[in-house]
Amino acid sequence: MQSIIEFYPLLSHPKRAVITTHQKPDGDAMGSSLALYHFLKLLGFDVAVISPTNWANFLDWLPGCNTVLDFEHNKDIAKNIIKESELIFCLDFNALSRIKNMANCIEKASSIKILIDHHQQPQEEAFDYGYSDATKSSTCEMIYDFIVQSGHSDKINVDIATCLYTGVMTDTGSFRFASTTASVHRMIAHLMELGLNHTIIHEHLYDNFLENRLRFIGHALSNRMEVLYEYNTAVMAIPKSDLIKYDIKTGDTEGLVNYLHTIQGIKLAAIVIDRDEERKWSFRSKGNFNVNTFARDHFEGGGHVNAAGGRSSDSLTVTLKKFHEVIKEYKQQLQ
Ligand code: 5GP
Ligand code: MN
Repeated sequence: MQSIIEFYPLLSHPKRAVITTHQKPDGDAMGSSLALYHFLKLLGFDVAVISPTNWANFLDWLPGCNTVLDFEHNKDIAKNIIKESELIFCLDFNALSRIKNMANCIEKASSIKILIDHHQQPQEEAFDYGYSDATKSSTCEMIYDFIVQSGHSDKINVDIATCLYTGVMTDTGSFRFASTTASVHRMIAHLMELGLNHTIIHEHLYDNFLENRLRFIGHALSNRMEVLYEYNTAVMAIPKSDLIKYDIKTGDTEGLVNYLHTIQGIKLAAIVIDRDEERKWSFRSKGNFNVNTFARDHFEGGGHVNAAGGRSSDSLTVTLKKFHEVIKEYKQQLQ
């Protein structure tokens, strides 16, 4: 993988480009993809954003979101666009396993592949050019760097600013996590000077749910949460019957894990949800407990030091039991 700096000259020759991101894209995945989409369009590129799966409805308002193809629902069209592309940008993930059913056709494509991502341990051999930095707050911050460093800062318009703000804000927990550096604040100041309306973005993302989601959260907190004080850990397991009863859709469970962390003294918060194809874990930690390695070692996952995800093919009961078992090894680290 060559440095992204070597890629900048290629921006002077508009090409057919595909932008893709991880399955079930979140605010940073979708924000970075659409910010790059608008930027490349301004440079004259022919661009398509392809998501491996669907995404949360609360992202639909993002400028350009109506152009995004869901691979699962448009397989033939998407495969053809990928095959015909000259460049493939891979954003907010760093291993092909994170794009599920799309991995195979991305791997096979002869296009130049460019990685822009802030997770740990990138699969370097899968990409031609890369900008990978785990100290960055978000992929959106890295897309901002990409635009500015390649000499195109004048191209940032309100649509690009809106997409970038969405990813930085969601990935930093509204600017509270340690990854929120002075550079992040300088970037946001620049976006605000360009006319960004940040209040409306917060409303779109956080004040736009249906009643059932709030009732579901109340139910989950009352009935599905266990607090393991001995391990300074809170864990929640959501059975499929809850998802059906409360009509829970993609995105409705996002942020739920953070409630567990609001309990005094909790160092590890974990949620497992019984999805159709797998049991999906979300892990969050405070301080130096590394959930990236925890998720890699026990639940086929990864991510960042303080925020990671994982999966299991076992039943919900079995995967929860496994969590209770493995946590015993970490008693010391969690004190
Ligand atoms: P979340 O819990 O919000 O789904 O994910 C937390 C962080 O971990 C995100 O940065 C996400 O990209 C990453 N992540 C989530 N699930 C997985 C996984 O199965 N594998 C890897 N490598 N990273 C994941
Ligand atoms: Mn991210």
